Amino acid sequence: MSIPPNSTGRGLRTLSFEVMPPRRPHLAPKFWGTVDTLLQTEPDFISITYGAAGQDRSSARAVVRKIVRDTPVQPIAHLTCVGASRDEVTSVVTDYLDSGVRTFLALRGDPPVNYPEWRPQPGGLASATELITLIRALERRRTMTEPGAALRAAFKPLTIAVATFPSGNPEAGTTPEQEIERLLVKQAAGANFAITQLFFDPEAYALFSEKARSYGVTIPIMPGLLLPTDPTRLARVAELTKVEAPSFLLDDLAAARDEQDLYERGIKHGVALARGVLDAGAPGVHLYTFNKAQPALDLLEQVPELTPLP
Ligand code: FAD
Repeated sequence: MSIPPNSTGRGLRTLSFEVMPPRRPHLAPKFWGTVDTLLQTEPDFISITYGAAGQDRSSARAVVRKIVRDTPVQPIAHLTCVGASRDEVTSVVTDYLDSGVRTFLALRGDPPVNYPEWRPQPGGLASATELITLIRALERRRTMTEPGAALRAAFKPLTIAVATFPSGNPEAGTTPEQEIERLLVKQAAGANFAITQLFFDPEAYALFSEKARSYGVTIPIMPGLLLPTDPTRLARVAELTKVEAPSFLLDDLAAARDEQDLYERGIKHGVALARGVLDAGAPGVHLYTFNKAQPALDLLEQVPELTPLP
């Protein structure tokens, strides 16, 4: 079924956000203020990052639990294989399942800052695919031994998302085709949908999605977008992910007269990117918020297809 181009309101599209748990307790009130503001846009889900470089894990777990308990929105708990034994990952997954989490983003994880050459922990998990297999096995065991868990699974099936890289993963030195092969493996292991690494060219997303379908990927591929309102953030993200902002974007931001002009230019590029991926048939938009609500709100004002239905 195609979506009429002039439809307003979210309709068949989804909107979701990624947030990062507060790094220190005194930042928690501001963080929850941001989450409250984001919730007013009625997102389909909010994903919560997990211990980039092995840090901030208990904070992530507290945030996920509070979202399950106190909000109407479904959290996606990011989970990684980095710096943890199989038993430790098992305990985290079990803890999440016990607290009612039904959606995970299964990741290999970024290597710790001091150890860029990533190696699995001895006896630990080596990849997102192994993590999917473990989560599915734990859920299966619960549903076979606990009638309550079986009913919950029937009512709210467990969903597993994975990462994918439309331009290849520069950190891993892979091509888009290799990432599609990897996505096929994740799909076969039980992934239900994918979220992309950030990118700046909607055409890259369109080509990747089309090629992925032709290779046999059937799960939805959700574009992950960063609104480029802050050149310092773009530089930091490029350092971490090796995804460089294109020169046309950096030049345009550099020509801004003042802070307000810079911000408006960033939103304009974000709107063009969101429109580009929606036109390319994306199921919705997943925004990397970096815990800032205002750019998301300003984007939504200009992309009526993503605002809640009246
Ligand atoms: P897999 O698909 O498991 O990778 C399989 C194999 O690819 C690896 O065994 C290895 O051989 C190779 N490979 C993958 N990455 C590298 C690399 N960097 N260098 C060398 N070889 C590599 N990270 C976090 O720590 N916490 C998060 O919350 C988090 N959230 C993310 C959310 C999204 C949407 C995305 C796209 C990424 C996120 N990341 C996060 C980063 C992610 O963990 C890294 O990009 C990681 O390097 C790849 O994870 P994967 O699950 O795709 O790896």
